[in-house]
Amino acid sequence: MRIVQKYGGSSMGSVERIGLVAARIARSHAQGHSIVVVVSAMQGETDRLLKLAAQLSPRPRDREIDVLLATGEQVSIALLALALREKGIDARSFLGHQVRILTDNVHGSARIQTIDAAPVQECLDRGEVVVVAGFQGVDQDGNITTLGRGGSDLSAVAMAAAIAADACEIYSDVDGIYTTDPAICSRARKIDRIWAEEMLELASLGAKVLQARSVEFALKHKVTICCKSTFDDGDGSWVIPQTVTMGGEAMQGLEGAVVTGIACDRQTARFSVSGILNRPGAAAALFRPLAQDAINVDVIIQTAPQDGYCELSFTVPQVSARRTAELLESLRPTMGFGQVRLAENVAKVSIVGAGMRSQPGVALRAFEALGDAGIDIELISTSEIKISLVVDDRFTEAAVRVLHDAFELHAVGR
Ligand code: ASP
Ligand code: MG
Repeated sequence: MRIVQKYGGSSMGSVERIGLVAARIARSHAQGHSIVVVVSAMQGETDRLLKLAAQLSPRPRDREIDVLLATGEQVSIALLALALREKGIDARSFLGHQVRILTDNVHGSARIQTIDAAPVQECLDRGEVVVVAGFQGVDQDGNITTLGRGGSDLSAVAMAAAIAADACEIYSDVDGIYTTDPAICSRARKIDRIWAEEMLELASLGAKVLQARSVEFALKHKVTICCKSTFDDGDGSWVIPQTVTMGGEAMQGLEGAVVTGIACDRQTARFSVSGILNRPGAAAALFRPLAQDAINVDVIIQTAPQDGYCELSFTVPQVSARRTAELLESLRPTMGFGQVRLAENVAKVSIVGAGMRSQPGVALRAFEALGDAGIDIELISTSEIKISLVVDDRFTEAAVRVLHDAFELHAVGR
């Protein structure tokens, strides 16, 4: 088989751990698999480098920051290749530009455009193990770029697509994908199989196992991901992109459940703007400056107009709250709305499941469960396969547990 194995920062946390990673790769190699390894920087390294840069410059999206951050992964590939060679395996390390992971030129969150798989292929044909630096690429002019935090997951999935791998294994210190964060809910259960579209929602809504963009890429390019632990031999969790042949099966969760998982994002702030004159273009006028500032607005709710006025509520990442407040104030003279209310500590708790498509009453069940637990819901937003509820952050953990119980996620197939 052709396998891409990605090892994250925690797996590369020390020379001892790199030794364990090398042993694991050696075992797969001995089984006759063709292996491309993608690695992250050693644990804490990217943060350390960012802190250094912050002492000298406040600019986060600078070309030089990417030059700096890319060094973290360079150290990892070299150490791992050395460890593999000590085990008698022909291993060769590659930086992003050496395998031509070509990206656009957006420093700090570049998008992968193409990968030239030929040099990798040549190594694989010779029976070598290829070790590629995650998180980095190169733009058309030869500048080093990085793919955004957690971007090694994306490098791995893109590499798997480029070499038409049978699977992309993502190794970390957890043994798979859980129904919710086990640190919040002790009844959280490891999921064996999940649809990529469900995983994409969970990752976008706060689950940390996989970077959302990597799942989006996997969905689009039909890459099957398996999340596993570096430190045990469990089967992990499979993230399966839907194929045409699956047809109706995809309407349901892979384990027969209506709700597959619960994610929460606690770094959220809520704004409510009242007294907005309800005329065409009002919402556009309000959100335009936020979009221009790249502020990620989510859960937008507008009330029905009353006497010509309406109210708009929405959430933004907590880090953008202050900037959002400033931008809204700057609009006041031209738009003339009423009060702007900000709740800085709210959380977005989301339930996700492909089975929701075919099952009515899911939202009601969630509302009843939270109601019975005395938890106020501040905003609600739904899509085909998810329901997001904004609650005061004091209630986050309780809300997650209550919903986990209400949908019996501790048991398979409810
Ligand atoms: N080293 C990068 C980060 O810490 C990329 C990664 O680990 O995936 O975000
Ligand atoms: Mg990661």
